[in-house]
Amino acid sequence: MKKRVAILGSTGSIGKQTLEVIKQHPDKFEVEVLTALNSAEDLIEQARGFQPDAVIIGNKEKYDLVKESLANDPVKVYAGSEAIAQIVQGENIDIVLTAMVGFSGLTPTINAIKSGKTIALANKETMVVAGEIVTELAHKHKVSILPVDSEHSAIFQCLVGEFQNPVEKIYLTASGGPFRGKSLDHMMTVTREEALNHPNWSMGNKITIDSASMMNKGLEAIEAKWLFGLKPEQIDIIVHPQSIIHSIVQFRDGSMKAQMGLPDMRLPIQYALTFPERAESNFERFNFLDYPQLTFEKLNEKIFRNVTMAYQAMEKGGSLPCVMNAANEVAVEMFLNGTIGFLQMSDVIEEAMDKVEYISHPTLDDYIILDKASRDFAYRYIKNL
Ligand code: MN
Repeated sequence: MKKRVAILGSTGSIGKQTLEVIKQHPDKFEVEVLTALNSAEDLIEQARGFQPDAVIIGNKEKYDLVKESLANDPVKVYAGSEAIAQIVQGENIDIVLTAMVGFSGLTPTINAIKSGKTIALANKETMVVAGEIVTELAHKHKVSILPVDSEHSAIFQCLVGEFQNPVEKIYLTASGGPFRGKSLDHMMTVTREEALNHPNWSMGNKITIDSASMMNKGLEAIEAKWLFGLKPEQIDIIVHPQSIIHSIVQFRDGSMKAQMGLPDMRLPIQYALTFPERAESNFERFNFLDYPQLTFEKLNEKIFRNVTMAYQAMEKGGSLPCVMNAANEVAVEMFLNGTIGFLQMSDVIEEAMDKVEYISHPTLDDYIILDKASRDFAYRYIKNL
């Protein structure tokens, strides 16, 4: 039986690599749904290549282009975010890989869980914003949430066969990004280009900036809390510049298991899609002699304040991670378009966390309202700088 896959965000970096993996295993997978926000040309090309049941273009203005281009293919074409939220419930889908950017992943992920689909989670913001609701729903509907994020895939792989054994703590590894070891003075002047130049991973713009600012690691700590049911004090971050060890689990007897390999997102993607099986791959193999030294460093939280703020959000919980995430999405957007400087991103987030309303037990509607409130606050705050 082939697994029937829906890929939300198929034209992004993770989406494209997911299709590469699927292409290598035509006996295992069938592509049923592809969605993209704006990249109509890529979506059309993917639809022609994979012949899914349906494609959805998020931006409704591009519907005509996609529809006309696929007029001779047996592919249904829809548009808009409502269509994305709806299509994941289809009976023709077994597994939904969520690779869209940011808060937009929340509603479709929740709908997919409610209709019993396995989730391959590549949209960490969903867990950051509403981890409590998402994990409760997954439990209620007996749905597996399989991590695609490389660190979380590493933890998950270390836990296979250990599910009865309590975890003492985990270490999320961080490459340190392009600004590892740089001074605060240096950070005040960094450009968009420098921030987008990640040493080890090639990724989309949003996550690349999050990696440079270490917000990505903060988001990942919160993601780990919900995925693995951990307390904040059980989640540690260690800088490991070579990105060979993808993360580590420490058990109560002190034993540590690490998952390692060359940095290649196709591996965690493939593992999430084929779990519990490990499928063959032609990915480049690790050679110890190419890496005579694997090194580890402490994260500098004085410079990377985002990590401290993310832990505060994780500890206080409620709506605070949602507000932090929304302010960060705005801050990254405004950094990328040149409106604010690199370090100002943390100011925006800190102010939003301080000023936007706090709710201790938010509903899904509360999250939607507070996400908007935090974005509005962040735009206003930046405008008045
Ligand atoms: Mn990651």
